[in-house]
Amino acid sequence: MFSKDIPSLLSPWYRKVARPLPWRENPTPYRVWLSEIMLQQTRVEAVIPYYQRFLSVFPTLAALAEAEDALLMKCWEGLGYYSRARNLKKAAVTVMTDFGGVFPSRYEDILSLSGIGEYTAGAIGSIAFGLPTPAVDGNVLRILARLLGDGRDVLSPALKKEYRQGLLAIYPSGKAAGELTQAFMELGQRVCTASGTPKCAECPLASLCASKDGGYAAIPYRAPKKARKIEKKTVLLLLCDNAFALSLRPAEALLGGLWEFPNVEGHLSAQEVFALARDLGLSPLGAEAIGEAKHIFTHLEWHMRGFLVPCEKKGGENLVFATDEDIQKKYAIASAFRFFKKFIAENK
Ligand code: SF4
Repeated sequence: MFSKDIPSLLSPWYRKVARPLPWRENPTPYRVWLSEIMLQQTRVEAVIPYYQRFLSVFPTLAALAEAEDALLMKCWEGLGYYSRARNLKKAAVTVMTDFGGVFPSRYEDILSLSGIGEYTAGAIGSIAFGLPTPAVDGNVLRILARLLGDGRDVLSPALKKEYRQGLLAIYPSGKAAGELTQAFMELGQRVCTASGTPKCAECPLASLCASKDGGYAAIPYRAPKKARKIEKKTVLLLLCDNAFALSLRPAEALLGGLWEFPNVEGHLSAQEVFALARDLGLSPLGAEAIGEAKHIFTHLEWHMRGFLVPCEKKGGENLVFATDEDIQKKYAIASAFRFFKKFIAENK
């Protein structure tokens, strides 16, 4: 299906152009794994400072296995998709208990760890252990679809499976496996890019490519997506004794384990917010609208309306009260509430 010349064209090119990224120095399984998890959904430039800070706080897999949840979330704050951080810790605990503290080197064992899917297992297997395991993500799908001039839906699981099988037939082992995986990543980020015109004149695979003369414009094809679900919410900034109320999102919920400002479903009026604050066990003095904010998840949008609600004194069940400084520095607040955090910082 794929030319057996792909590795011999791509790997030497990669050796020439590879950028010195922190996870490429000393690619231990722990470092490769952490970088691959952070790079999911996040750009390389944004990941670098998080990666370095995370490693300075949790330098080893054993340290991560013993991480306090609050510190773990604080180190992840701003990266989004927080289940990634929770799964990292879960997997670290599994490595300590089931694999004697040594990161497993069999593909199936790597794949069995929390938060590790086929792509990440393939990347860790090839880069850290030299296994002939391809890592097929959006970059690789785009490159391969363009190489073949394949106009089928690139998001289809069947196509992904077919491409993975095709790559398995040509994938090398040893150091060359990791190089090929990283070469695909580099090519997708810098040459055969997702946006803009691909740089076919610089592409080491141009001699094999069916799309180099402009066919790339229509490939990859993606079948249209369903519209996102919209959820309306009312967010309360309950201000008592110079501190704002926060509550902890349940572990199993979206953004679980992070802090939020108390909120309810639907868009309430000022009178309804006033009544709600009373129901929460507080003595509100008023309710003033402070604006609207939107947060977009993959399949969902939150349309939030905010109110500032000064109250006589602290109270209410399951609420903690935090000063502006603690809100900005101490609590890992879900980034969906960024607008409200900023409002507090700007209205001291
Ligand atoms: Fe992509 Fe152009 Fe290279 Fe083909 S030749 S793989 S379209 S950059």
